[in-house]
Amino acid sequence: MSAKSVPVLPSPKTSGITQQPNFSIPPLVGASLEEITAWVHDQGQPAYRGKQLHEWIYQKGVRSLSDISVFPKQWRAEVAEIPIGRSNIHYRSVAPDGTVKYLLQLADNQIIECVGIPAEKRLTVCVSTQVGCPMACDFCATGKEGYKRNLARHEIVDQVLTVQEDFQQRVSHVVFMGMGEPLLNTAHVIGAIKSLNQDVGIGQRNLTVSTVGIRDRIRQFAQHQLQVTLAVSLHAPNQALREQLIPSARSYPIEDLLTECREYVKITGRRVSFEYVLLAGVNDLPEHALELARHLRGFQSHVNLIPYNPITEADYKRPNQNRIQAFVKVLKQQQIAVSVRYSRGLEADAACGQLRVKKVPSSEP
Ligand code: SAH
Repeated sequence: MSAKSVPVLPSPKTSGITQQPNFSIPPLVGASLEEITAWVHDQGQPAYRGKQLHEWIYQKGVRSLSDISVFPKQWRAEVAEIPIGRSNIHYRSVAPDGTVKYLLQLADNQIIECVGIPAEKRLTVCVSTQVGCPMACDFCATGKEGYKRNLARHEIVDQVLTVQEDFQQRVSHVVFMGMGEPLLNTAHVIGAIKSLNQDVGIGQRNLTVSTVGIRDRIRQFAQHQLQVTLAVSLHAPNQALREQLIPSARSYPIEDLLTECREYVKITGRRVSFEYVLLAGVNDLPEHALELARHLRGFQSHVNLIPYNPITEADYKRPNQNRIQAFVKVLKQQQIAVSVRYSRGLEADAACGQLRVKKVPSSEP
């Protein structure tokens, strides 16, 4: 999808947009067993080599075709230089809570972030879907630096393989909550979801796609009948306040967004999760909670409150515990399912909304 397909934005920060790099050979990462087998066949190799290659890419995490020891020597030499679609780790930083932030360098030298979040019996990866983001939400660092391009399917799947390799542990959950707006890149996001599910082996219910809401895209996404969780960044209980925080909301009223969310529930049978970043004195008052509850009553949904993570470009403050708990209490009294998500990785600038590519440290990992 080109930047032209973002007409809803009042003032998109799209300076320096770059085209998707051209790959002469379709990257093998993100490809299905059938696609890989077809490629192997084109190379004049027997079909069973496709299964081997699939296993080496997704289970063994191979980075170069020349490392696949079960392949004949001569063929390995022939294909040694063909990139399979893996990125390089440009920088890696570990927060005291074990969260690891990676800056990954893509084939065209663009840098993206992804985050590995370990927990007991879980390893979650937060993946980016675009280089930068055109949405320019006022409280989010990613949008401050504009938008460059969409990520391709393999560039999304690669982030998961990279974390898996670095942690030497299977990834159990993936959240599409890194840089970018997934529903501006739906085709590649859906391609990545299918690959993560069928090739990497992560259950669809362990995948969460987070969107700020793009007109008609939630409805279209629902048609794919995926079993993933949809998270919608609501952040405000009314149109006026939402417009203040999210520029694109000006051309997509909150009522229309909620209508589409209801359709999503109807079509998929899955509940929607609403994200609500708590900004002190802005959207965290009990009356805001009441107004939010009025919208969501009887709606098969869940509210995820995210206490604001500070960024240098914005003056917002995180509310104190009393304010957060008061907000929770009102929602609970109104029978709204709610939880508070304290972001991991704050110390590594890896928490929600803190992902950016500027000021890349020059040291190597
Ligand atoms: N474009 C997608 C994914 C963005 S990041 C979306 O808007 O949903 C995932 C979540 O982090 C979103 O809900 C986003 O609004 C939130 N977020 C952004 N900046 C934040 C900040 N500074 N503190 C806390 N959450 C933030």
